[in-house]
Amino acid sequence: MRVLVISDIHANLTAFQRVLESAADEWDKIWCLGDIVGYGPDPNECIETLRQYDHLSLSGNHDWAVMDRLDIKTFNREARAAIRWTQEAISESNLSFLRSLPAHTVEGPFTLAHASPRQPLWEYILDTATAGANLKKFETTYCLVGHSHVPMIFKEVGNSRAEWYAPSYGQPFELNQSRLIINPGSVGQPRDYDPRSAYGLLDLEAMTWEHRRVEYEFEDTQARMAEAGLPDRLISRLGFGS
Ligand code: ZN
Repeated sequence: MRVLVISDIHANLTAFQRVLESAADEWDKIWCLGDIVGYGPDPNECIETLRQYDHLSLSGNHDWAVMDRLDIKTFNREARAAIRWTQEAISESNLSFLRSLPAHTVEGPFTLAHASPRQPLWEYILDTATAGANLKKFETTYCLVGHSHVPMIFKEVGNSRAEWYAPSYGQPFELNQSRLIINPGSVGQPRDYDPRSAYGLLDLEAMTWEHRRVEYEFEDTQARMAEAGLPDRLISRLGFGS
């Protein structure tokens, strides 16, 4: 089975559709690592699109905020405004879909967590110390996380120490039993100063992983955000990938 691994769609339908099209014949199932909604203008459309495909999905901290499962005081002003807008916009059926999703799960040799295996909703794995501490917190060989919106790979190099690797886009590599924490990056709000959507392709027979990027028309998403009255800073950041 070939898996399209995505995370942090954040209600950006233009980006999500571009990712689905760009890898159209290359996957059989979607694994979505959460934060389907929040920030963007298309929460219902993104959930309904995801539900059209064979998929496994986690919930992220923004999904939890929309469900009222956590206190949005922990979010910044713009993120809070987007959560309130999403709570008004989302349909009852899509809300109950979000409620049905776990924040972490295990699939064969892969642990899937929105943020980190240690704190599935909150922790950002952005450095080798945090990655190393998290290597002790899952039992499978591999772990897939989202949340930081930055594509990267951490590899265990003895005694829960981790090394960091930047992704090589479009270059599949073999998973060779080294323990890894892999982040595919964000579909709908990249934060590595590259506005292109990020995703991953995982081939469970060949046991290969590949990071990918694809351009999308972020101006279209920005126009819908402006129409919805979403905060300016959330609109402009899509153009910078920050
Ligand atoms: Zn997110």
